[in-house]
Amino acid sequence: MARIVMKFGGTSVADLDRIHNVARHVKREVDAGNQVAVVVSAMAGKTNELVGWVQAMPKVAGAKASFYDAREYDAIVASGEQVTSGLLAIALQSMGVDARSWQGWQIPVKTDNAHGAARILDIDGSELIRRFEMGQVAVVAGFQGVGPDNRLATLGRGGSDTSAVAIAAAVKADRCDIYTDVDGVYTTDPRMVPKARRMKKIAFEEMLEMASLGAKVLQVRSVELAMVHKVRTFVRSSFDDPDAPEMSDQLNPPGTLICDEEEIVEQEVVTGIAYAKDEAQISLRRLADRPGVSAAIFGPLADSHINVDMIVQNISEDGSRTDMTFTVPSGDADKALEVLAGEKDVIGYDVVQSESGLAKISVIGIGMRSHAGVAATAFKALAEKSINIKAITTSEIKISILIDGAYAELAVRTLHSVYGLDKT
Ligand code: ADP
Ligand code: ASP
Ligand code: MG
Repeated sequence: MARIVMKFGGTSVADLDRIHNVARHVKREVDAGNQVAVVVSAMAGKTNELVGWVQAMPKVAGAKASFYDAREYDAIVASGEQVTSGLLAIALQSMGVDARSWQGWQIPVKTDNAHGAARILDIDGSELIRRFEMGQVAVVAGFQGVGPDNRLATLGRGGSDTSAVAIAAAVKADRCDIYTDVDGVYTTDPRMVPKARRMKKIAFEEMLEMASLGAKVLQVRSVELAMVHKVRTFVRSSFDDPDAPEMSDQLNPPGTLICDEEEIVEQEVVTGIAYAKDEAQISLRRLADRPGVSAAIFGPLADSHINVDMIVQNISEDGSRTDMTFTVPSGDADKALEVLAGEKDVIGYDVVQSESGLAKISVIGIGMRSHAGVAATAFKALAEKSINIKAITTSEIKISILIDGAYAELAVRTLHSVYGLDKT
């Protein structure tokens, strides 16, 4: 007998037929004698619809352009998961499985106060464990918890993955299975590159980079939690036949295991390519080259919860003036420009320029630590396709390259081939 957390994403619960299909996956694990908690997302497209409704509401008089009340945003967008958790509990009951739905606050999943992008602080797993012992399946609404203000808080887009891994850690589950619409983690997004290969295993650190650099198959925070709490996490498909014999394999189910680097025998130099479209570049021209300038720029941006990514500062020629360029998600560009305009006198720049519609392509692999020339290979391959590079950042295990968004797909395919990742 094992204790398992099973998470089903939006496309897996997109309609009532699929919810019944999910119930069959759950029943299989229950029939095998396992203790099961399920975490569900909202039906595909639902959260986007709810977010759209919030954004379409009239602004409160005096509020800044793109701001709305984050507590009410959470109250609204968390509702999609409430519906699917109830529906799945009913589907399970109709199959003779004892099941009960749980909202975040009922467990409780306690979060901090960062409404819209809250972090889980603590989960009391005791009631879930009591239910396991009664043979009951808990169907938990993902993506939500309760903040210190006693109000609903959501965990950021894609947050049900994090709910699942955090619950798995809290109840000391043997496994956390993330069921989605692909059958594992691939060398790059298989929807963009049909030649992408599925990996049997991927190291936590590589998965963290893949996720934070755009591969939305897992939310970044879920990978961090899995790594810290050593949760055995598999990514697998809900579209596989629930009753196929290999689906019952308890040790190595079909899919990709996220694991410690030591568990991977044949480590490649480059394991994957990730991309993030919709990046915007902002440049501040002719800044004073003095201590405190970066803090004056990035402090206020951080205070406004703007996620700044690639940062490039020129070395000034004469030690007096310099340029600073950085990227933000396109959706945050207006807000960032607004913040920078408000701080113009403090920062002391001359002009600000921005460009959106860019893409960041990243090459990831732990093997890069011990191999030279990986970056040069990427630059040469992109040059041969006449793709211009606007900015570059590197770390020990990744290289990120900013390019015009129109070339994103070509660049991903080119790099995927040049590093020998194509399926043969
Ligand atoms: P869910 O709704 O189940 O949470 P998501 O849409 O959030 O599913 O994530 C699954 C999607 O992630 C896949 O459909 C795929 O297009 C995308 N994806 C991006 N990069 C990868 C990758 N390297 N491996 C697998 N899937 C990826
Ligand atoms: N429904 C939420 C979203 O679309 C959470 C999730 O799917 O993980 O972001
Ligand atoms: Mg997701």
